[in-house]
Amino acid sequence: MSEVTPHPNLVQNYARFPLRFVRGAGCWLYDEDGRAYLDCLSGIAVNALGHGHPHLTAAIREQAGQLLHTSNLFGIAPQERLAERLCAASFADRVYFCNSGAEANETAFKIARLWGNQVHGGSKPRIVAAEASFHGRTVGALAMTGTAAYREPFAPLPAVDFVPYGDVGALEQAMRPDVSALVLEPLQGEGGVRVPPAGYLQQARALCDQHQALLIFDEVQTGIGRTGDLFAYQHEGVVPDVMSLAKGLGGGVPIGASLMREELAQLLTPGTHASTFGGNHLACAAGNAVLDVVQGDGFLPGVRTAGARIAAELQRLLGDAAVEVRGRGLLIGAQLRSAPLPLLRACLDQGLICGVAGSNVLRLAPPLIIGEAEIDALVERLAAAWTACPIA
Ligand SMILES: *Cc1c(COP(=O)(O)O)cnc(C)c1O
Repeated sequence: MSEVTPHPNLVQNYARFPLRFVRGAGCWLYDEDGRAYLDCLSGIAVNALGHGHPHLTAAIREQAGQLLHTSNLFGIAPQERLAERLCAASFADRVYFCNSGAEANETAFKIARLWGNQVHGGSKPRIVAAEASFHGRTVGALAMTGTAAYREPFAPLPAVDFVPYGDVGALEQAMRPDVSALVLEPLQGEGGVRVPPAGYLQQARALCDQHQALLIFDEVQTGIGRTGDLFAYQHEGVVPDVMSLAKGLGGGVPIGASLMREELAQLLTPGTHASTFGGNHLACAAGNAVLDVVQGDGFLPGVRTAGARIAAELQRLLGDAAVEVRGRGLLIGAQLRSAPLPLLRACLDQGLICGVAGSNVLRLAPPLIIGEAEIDALVERLAAAWTACPIA
């Protein structure tokens, strides 16, 4: 690894690894020295189709040569097409496009306010969210994020009440008629790849119905096939009122989306909300190309099969060092007994890119196109890293 010194003209808000990648192909990334790394993080669950995917690349190229952006003052055909497809594949009637996960959650926050203020006469000032959640870094999304380290430097934030994730009793306590929305990840990503107990999401839905609160699912990380279903909510058939998407949707081109029921879409009249870039031609061409592949025959079963094999290999490899291997599809976490950073560095030494989540969780989120040969390489490299750096 050649050294990357912190750049004097960049804000030092990231702790970067000393690597710069210059090219990618499939599940592989190549650094400045031409060394190959197996990408098992996908730019944090973004590169759903890996790197240089021919269909996505061709779609972006073609759109770039035709038209990049016109603003939402005009109709945008690729945006209309992507909205039609997202609605046809989900509970939603309408889509609002933006550029990131945080922005999609900001939209959800504003819908919750309109629901409380306009539909319920200001009687629903409270929003409930989960501890250890992650919803993004803008002020509204941060307000819903139940992780103290991210929040505290920016207090005071809009008030949100937090409940322990997966605890039905705590949810019953928190949910009251003055709650406008409950915001949950159907499977927590950043918080440590935490799968809720069976029935938790059903209970959440029932409590929202009882108190006329919106159920908002943040599927920024879990959406677009990551968990082996197109959307994670489909696993248990618990349908939200609003859903946030971003990360995998553009396969690496920035795009976010808020999907919602008709009744809620009616609240977002002209003047209430907007984005200059949101859903432009280029981003939506990328989104459509990603959907072409992810909705193809056998693609999602392939995600489930690959995920099951990786989880089993991880369990076998880590043995007693892993408290638990968990996740769904190709969002996999191994809860370790100590900090995973030394192991992460040992993986990089072996040409393998992994991630961390929550406290002491090794996270794997490879491209959804990962095949048998790459999984073999993953197992081999992870085993070598583990030998070099076993952590207690
Ligand atoms: C990454 C993430 C976000 C934030 O997305 P940005 O595009 O970084 O704003 C929000 N929610 C979840 C669940 C995420 O994983």
